Amino acid sequence: MDKIVSLAKRRGFVFQSSEIYGGLNGCWDYGPLGVELLRNIKDAWWQSMTYREDIEGIDAAILMHPRVWEASGHVSNFTDPMVDCKECKARFRADQVDEAMCGSPAYKGRKAAKCQAEGKFTEARQFNLMFKTFVGPVEDEGAVVYLRPETAQGIFVNFLNVASGSRQKPPFGIAQIGKAFRNEINTKNFLFRTREFEQMEMQFFVKPGTDVEWFEKWRAERMQWFIDLGMTKEKLQWHQHEPDKLAHYAKDAYDIEYQFPFGWGEIEGIHNRSDFDLSQHEKYSGKSMQYFDQESKEKYTPYIIETSAGASRSFMAFLVDAYNEEEAPTADGKSEIRTVLKFHPRLAPTKAAVFPLVNRDGMPEIARNLEADLRPHMRVFYDDGGAVGRRYRRQDEVGTPFCITIDSETLTNQTVTVRERDSMNQERVAISQVRNYLSVSIRS
Ligand code: ATP
Repeated sequence: MDKIVSLAKRRGFVFQSSEIYGGLNGCWDYGPLGVELLRNIKDAWWQSMTYREDIEGIDAAILMHPRVWEASGHVSNFTDPMVDCKECKARFRADQVDEAMCGSPAYKGRKAAKCQAEGKFTEARQFNLMFKTFVGPVEDEGAVVYLRPETAQGIFVNFLNVASGSRQKPPFGIAQIGKAFRNEINTKNFLFRTREFEQMEMQFFVKPGTDVEWFEKWRAERMQWFIDLGMTKEKLQWHQHEPDKLAHYAKDAYDIEYQFPFGWGEIEGIHNRSDFDLSQHEKYSGKSMQYFDQESKEKYTPYIIETSAGASRSFMAFLVDAYNEEEAPTADGKSEIRTVLKFHPRLAPTKAAVFPLVNRDGMPEIARNLEADLRPHMRVFYDDGGAVGRRYRRQDEVGTPFCITIDSETLTNQTVTVRERDSMNQERVAISQVRNYLSVSIRS
């Protein structure tokens, strides 16, 4: 993990929030390459979810009516048990003490569970994870609103608006990507558990009785999405929530887990939420949330199948999965260790780098022309500094799938070398064909 975090900072993927002030715990900034990777992940999700007939997209407000969070159960239930160490003042989630270390520098390497066994901890208290703020100038209880802890509620309350506005009828879904906020007690493991993060959620509304079938369909589809984007199959697994651990709204729930360097962790939850959400909003708002089927003349409260992925956690999983250190040949016939991010070309922040072999003989002009030809279609990087081998390494480290070199042969036959990142194979391609060649390779 340390190597990945350091690469992420050095090459401009992720920076600590407000770093010059010592950072803000649980918050991170995406740098130039990070924001591209994140966008590419979100675009891939958005395309797979909404470029189809039965799902519509929305973008709901982050601040919602406070009654929403009473209806959803978040005001009363969205809590974690918290314990404090009376000696070093460290704070822990009571259910995670076993994995935590003592917070005191005096006891470096000591397990928190040991301190607990010695009676140093307070009793557990419930702590609500929602961030509170106020609407308007008066900071009293009547003005309290919450930063949404999930994007899902913005979808539920808009169910009938979308159904009628888009002439959709169950089975159909609503997708949304957006920020969510949770005042996590312990933030840890880089982007895994943060206080501000992004979610990619899709809620699929179905007729009761068809929910189990849809649940299985969505489970299969969501796992395949990660695999199709190049995530190592063996590092993905299902975790089913045991019946006594199910959330209050869930009939069944599975997590897609990724094997991070620190262990297995959830990256997406697929939940059969029954008719809980729409029934609750009907109860609290006094407005019917039922669907009336004009054809069959049936009225019912749809069941909801939820696919809830963390964009930031997926980002971290894609980054970790892409990271490789491996032996690579050098120009003088020896070998060296290269660091390479083997992103799926669709996700790679930069798609191609263009190099003139030397800065003379007309090579830079040809390289600049090629760069200009590619730039409107993809993110490209122009590099004329240092030996080509070094330039390859710099691009490997940020996961650029193709490097194109303009060399002396280009001057005679208008071809360039296209070097593929993972195989390191080089092919000669006519300059006029490069754009097409890259577009096809990136899509596949
Ligand atoms: P966990 O048990 O890890 O706290 P959760 O079960 O509360 O997660 P959900 O409420 O199902 O998570 O949220 C859906 C997705 O949102 C998760 O699979 C994860 O990818 C993402 N997510 C949730 N909490 C965080 C967080 N604090 N930081 C980053 N991503 C998060």
